[in-house]
This record gives sequence, C-alpha cells and structure tokens, in this order.
Amino acid sequence: MRTAFRYLRPYGPRVCCGVAIKFTAAILELILPLLLAHIIDVCVPARDLDAIWRTGGLMMVLACGAALCNITANRMAAWVSMEVTRVLRRDLYSRVERLSCAQMDRFSISSLVSRLTNDTYNVHQMFDKVQRGGIRAPMLVLGGLVLTFLRAPALGVVQLAVCGLTFVTIWLVTRRGIPYYTKSQTAVDTVVRIIRENASGVRVIKALACQGRERERFQTANENARRTEETAGCVMAAANPITDFLLNSGLVLVVVVGAVLVNAGRMDAGQIVAFLSYFALIQNATLGMAKIFVKISKGAASLRRIEEIIQAPADQLVRPSEEHADMELGMEDVSFSYLGVEKDLDGASFSLKKGEMLGILGPIGSGKTTLVSLLLRLYDADGGVVWVGGKDAASLGREDLRGRFGVVFQNEALLNDTIYENISFLRGLSREDVIAAAKTAQAWEFIETLPEGLDTRVDIRGANLSGGQRQRLLIARALAAKPGILVLDSADSALDYRTAAALYGAIHRDCPGVTLVVISERIASLREADRILVLEDGRIADQGDHGQLLARCDRYRRMAELQMGGANG
Ligand code: ADP
Ligand code: MG
Repeated sequence: MRTAFRYLRPYGPRVCCGVAIKFTAAILELILPLLLAHIIDVCVPARDLDAIWRTGGLMMVLACGAALCNITANRMAAWVSMEVTRVLRRDLYSRVERLSCAQMDRFSISSLVSRLTNDTYNVHQMFDKVQRGGIRAPMLVLGGLVLTFLRAPALGVVQLAVCGLTFVTIWLVTRRGIPYYTKSQTAVDTVVRIIRENASGVRVIKALACQGRERERFQTANENARRTEETAGCVMAAANPITDFLLNSGLVLVVVVGAVLVNAGRMDAGQIVAFLSYFALIQNATLGMAKIFVKISKGAASLRRIEEIIQAPADQLVRPSEEHADMELGMEDVSFSYLGVEKDLDGASFSLKKGEMLGILGPIGSGKTTLVSLLLRLYDADGGVVWVGGKDAASLGREDLRGRFGVVFQNEALLNDTIYENISFLRGLSREDVIAAAKTAQAWEFIETLPEGLDTRVDIRGANLSGGQRQRLLIARALAAKPGILVLDSADSALDYRTAAALYGAIHRDCPGVTLVVISERIASLREADRILVLEDGRIADQGDHGQLLARCDRYRRMAELQMGGANG
C-alpha cells in the first residue's frame, strides 16, 4: 500500500480538492431530508404555499448543487486514477523490459502479461472507487445515523442494525464470490489462448486433420468456463435480493417504530418521511462502502503482484574485469543451469579470435542455444568466465553487449509492418543499409519482385511469406546494423543448399572482419569454420576444424558422410 501512496502523492492537491468537493456534496445531501420534514411538519399544516415553494426551491437548488459537486469530483477522480494507473503501468512495463531472462522464466510470460493488464485494471478500479465513494459513503452513513440518533434514538438503533446486517452480507457474499470470478477469468483466458493457438496453427491443424481433437479441446475449455462462471453467478445471485429484502424490512421497521413514536406524541408525522429518506440514503451508502472494501482488497492484492515486479532486485550487475585481447569470444570452464536441477551447459571452454568463425553442431536439446545465450549474456553463467570482445561478459552492460551482436534465433517473430521496418527493426536505419543487408541475406531477390518492394506489409507472424523468405528477412535484420559479431542459430534450416551456400559466401564477402557464430545441422555450413564445437548433452564432446574432426570425431564423420555422400575432402 505504500506504493499506492507513493504513486498518488504527485496528485495530492487534486485528490484533496476532490475530497473537499465530495464532502460539500455529502453535507448538501444530508440537509435535504431535514427540509422535507420542515415542509411536511411546518409548511403543510400552516397551509403556507409560499413557504412550501421557497423550501421546495431550496431543496432543488441543494440537490442540483450536490449533483454538480459529485459530477465534478467524479471527473477529477477518474482523471487521477487513469493518470496514476498510466504511470504505474509505464513503470511496470519498463521494469518488465529490464528483467533478465532468468527473472522472466521465473515469473513466466503469461503472468507478466496478466500483471500488466488485469492487475493494473484492478488497481485502477481501486483508486477510482475509493476516490468516488471513500469519503461520501462513510459520511452519509455516519451523518445519517448521527442525525437520526439525535432526534429519535429508537429509529437510530433500527437503522444501525439493518445497516450492519447489509454490510456484513455484501462483504461475505462478495468475498466468497471473488475467488470464483478469478477462476472463471482464468478459464476464459484458456478459451482465448486455444482460439489464438488454433487460429495461428490453422494450417497444421487442417493438414494433420486434427480438427476433431481441437474441437474437443476447445469444447472442454468452453464448458469449464461456463461451469466456473455459473458457480460465481450462483454465489453472487444472493447478494442483491438479500440487500433488497433488508432495505424493505428496514423501511417497514422505520415506519412502524416511527408511528409508535408519533402516537406517543414524541415525534411529528413528517419526521417519519425524513427518517425514511435517511434510511434509504444510509442503506445505499452502506452498499457502496461494502463494494469499496471489496475493490480495495482486490486492488491491494493486485498491487502486491505489481510491486513484486517493480521491486525485483536488479540481477546481472556489471563488475569490473581484466582484458584478454585474444578472446574475441570464448568460454573458460563455463557451467550453467536454467532451473538449478541439472547442468544444461557443463565445463565449456573454447576461444575465438576476432574475424574467425565458430561452428556449433549437436542434437536437439544439447545446449547450442544455451551456449550462445550465455555469449549474449541473456543469462549469467553459474561458474566460469564468458569472454566477449576481450572482456568478461559480466563486465559488459546490456547496451554495450547489444551494440556488438547481430543475432538470429530460432522461432523469432516478424512485426506486422513493412519489410523495411522488419529489417530496420525500430533502429531507424537508412534504406541503403537495409537494401545492402537484404542483398547479403539473399532476401533482395524476392523483395525486388514484390509490387511494393521494401514497403510490402508483412502479415502477423509473417503468414504471407514462405519459411525461407521469413528466415532471410531475419538474417537481414541481424546484418543490417553491421555488427562485429554475428550469431546465426539454425538460420539456414529453411534455406535450400544453394541459397545457404550463397548466404555464407555473401557474409564472408560483404562483412569483412565479422566474427561469425553459426549453429547448423549442415556440415556444408560449418566446414569453413575455424573452430567447430560438437555438443552432446550440455558438454563440448569435441572441437576442432573440419579436417581435424573428420579425422577423429566419429559423430562428426558420420554426419559428414550422411550429408555429403562421402565427398568430404
Ligand atoms: P539446443 O541445442 O536444441 O539449442 P537448448 O540450448 O535450447 O538446446 O536447450 C538445452 C537444454 O536446456 C534442454 O534440455 C532444454 O530443455 C533446456 N532449456 C532450454 N531453455 C530453457 C529454459 N528457458 N528454461 C528451462 N530449461 C531450458
Ligand atoms: Mg536451439
């Protein structure tokens, strides 16, 4: 909650002003029943039409004043809560952007998304409702009760009892209902996720004829959503009827007790009307208060989830290191584990000079992507030293590292934007640079044939391009900023042999001095490398150049024979 106050503080004057206006409106609303009683008890018996008009007019003025005050204060409240939420969401987003990959893994992407959307919404609701009703509702309840107690204590007791019951009912029912609503929200999220997965994977689903199974999966999720929502609805169904019942019984009680008092000559008949309006006022305000409490408990829980991210300690600190000029890229006995259970990379050591090429080969899950993730400092090694540009990677900040690398990962996404923007990638590169990168990446040949060339729009996930075209755009993106180190993680998997050969030839020709890291399952793509790492189960099983590995590494030789039909000189 300290966070809530910290974010509200800059808007303090506005909030205070809104509170003062609400305060005024509540006082106006509390005067209305008094004037009503005055008309009935004094003006009507005296048949003083003038006084009735005057008092009635005054009541209208007060009612209008209260309405205007409430509208103004509500608008101010809406503005403040929108603004506070905007700032909170901005800070949360920028913290999410700066989370390390390890922290992202720990929080999970879907939870980060729901914190950015659902939770900020709940916090917004809390700020809004508290400002709108946080002063008005308690004031009306308290003012109404005090005025009633002063003039007829017996009626005060009736009102207090009914109010208390209403508050407790709403509080209990909503508290029980909220977990069901949270569950139904999750169930709806699942339905949305399945729809999204099916929409994007629609070709595969059709090709593999698994529509039936998908339909079943959807229907299960849909049924689940219906069931949880039904339960939530059932629990909440009790709330309004019970409070209506309490309101009606309260009205009856007020009239009965009032009538007894009038009979006994201790009260004027008109006052019953005044107390009835107080009662309605108090009852409504009580409902409002109970709802505000529920919003606060929901908002506070969400705020805690947001704080957890905003206050997550910075990891991946930058520490000083010595220089090691020969180590453009390298590792010294590096070990790493994602979950701390088993080692995903174990005892990795190699070194590479500037301008050399590193090849990485190994079966799926052997740690190839993990190895380059450590070079890029997406994760920090648990042990050992990772060298980048002659320095310990741990001594390089994110900006520093980002400028050195160009990288293509597997399953990377394209933007739903022009081809130019997909290659320039929000870096504002010149069209000449983009075209040069596209040429090196062997992408220009198909971009050129498109009617709108570089300005052709790419559909969501690049659905209007072939796999090979998408891959070449991603390679062009990695090349476009002329990086010193280029990392291609399985970037040739969708290219035919001729295009792949042309690609590597063009990179060697157009990017002199670039240090190249290529992960590929094709020996043809790796054979030029100065050093090839053969990975197996997170360990470097062997390393050397093409000739050395052919001579001594069985796995490598078998792959080479399989792929190149023995023509492996
Ligand atoms: P590949 O050689 O296919 O690129 P990876 O480096 O991606 O293999 O994965 C190596 C191992 O690490 C695998 O066992 C994989 O399951 C695991 N792994 C990869 N990424 C993560 C992650 N974010 N969280 C937990 N485990 C991971
Ligand atoms: Mg991989």
